[in-house]
Amino acid sequence: MGPPAALRAGQFRLYAASMPLPLHSFLASQTDRLREVRRGEPMAEPPSMSSGDPERCAVAVANCEGDVVSAGDVGDEFTIQSISKAIAYAYVLEELGHEKVHEFVDVEPSGEAYHVISVEDSSGRPDNPMINAGALVVHSLLPGGDQDERSALVLDLFSRLAGRQLSVDETVFEEELRAGHRNLAIAHLLRAENDLPDDPHDVVAGYTRQCAIRVTAVDLAMMGATLANCGTQPVTGEQIFSPDVVRQTLSVMLTCGMYDDAGDWVSGVGIPAKSGVAGGILAVAPGSLGVAAWSPRLDGHGTSVRGRELVRQVAMKLGLHLLDGRPEPEVDWEASEMK
Ligand code: GLU
Repeated sequence: MGPPAALRAGQFRLYAASMPLPLHSFLASQTDRLREVRRGEPMAEPPSMSSGDPERCAVAVANCEGDVVSAGDVGDEFTIQSISKAIAYAYVLEELGHEKVHEFVDVEPSGEAYHVISVEDSSGRPDNPMINAGALVVHSLLPGGDQDERSALVLDLFSRLAGRQLSVDETVFEEELRAGHRNLAIAHLLRAENDLPDDPHDVVAGYTRQCAIRVTAVDLAMMGATLANCGTQPVTGEQIFSPDVVRQTLSVMLTCGMYDDAGDWVSGVGIPAKSGVAGGILAVAPGSLGVAAWSPRLDGHGTSVRGRELVRQVAMKLGLHLLDGRPEPEVDWEASEMK
């Protein structure tokens, strides 16, 4: 028997994870299948991040009504890392407006790894807000009088997006900060170029704390659903970002969100996304869904091997690729991967 019409891509409706309905079975079978994939290694540093179980794996999908379907280790928390860059970017866009933010950071794909010092020769601006140079500038533009206030505002914002109170992994924060020489070097260079309106040490500490916020795959899916829903958190109903800010953020995620793998991601998966080195991925089907996955083994770009494949499978199954003009697929829920 096929799915109810409403379960098809586009106008599809999700159901609670406890219900043994087709989407849940699909996610569970994909998660089980991908657990067998042992390619890639977890991030080697900091020690607290490499010491976790690399075989953990989770996926979650949330719609604009706040319904969530998930599978795998959905209760596990991990640090948000680079995914935080997209959210912080939306925050400063909301506070300062696009023009002001653009004076400090461009929106061009750098084609380089996240920690490379990619700045424009002419202006000294970082190429985009999804690499570390741009994310440090963005962090320095966040509201708040000092570093503590800024960090508190960031944690509050991320919690409102997830729809629950989040916390910071203090061990990851401290270890990353101690080893953060490269980020400090980038921050000093940006300061020398007059592109960092704050003390480099404070900015690196605040940015590192932002990266150390703990989330689950479900939290990321809810954040994604908020972006999919034009900035309104589906469960609480709070309008957190304006639709213009969301469009700008998703545009930059689409072109720059997946490190130096952005082109391959757009052609193969086709929806805006941001990944982080703890193994999380947040992807957004605008107007429709937040899709999140997590597993610690990373590919050479710093993206979760299993997470990438999970998001790709969901996007393919539900016909989410933004550049695919064919009519939405009839989802074949009886396909062998569900068995
Ligand atoms: N905290 C990490 C850094 O800035 C985040 C990197 C990432 O997730 O890509 O180096």
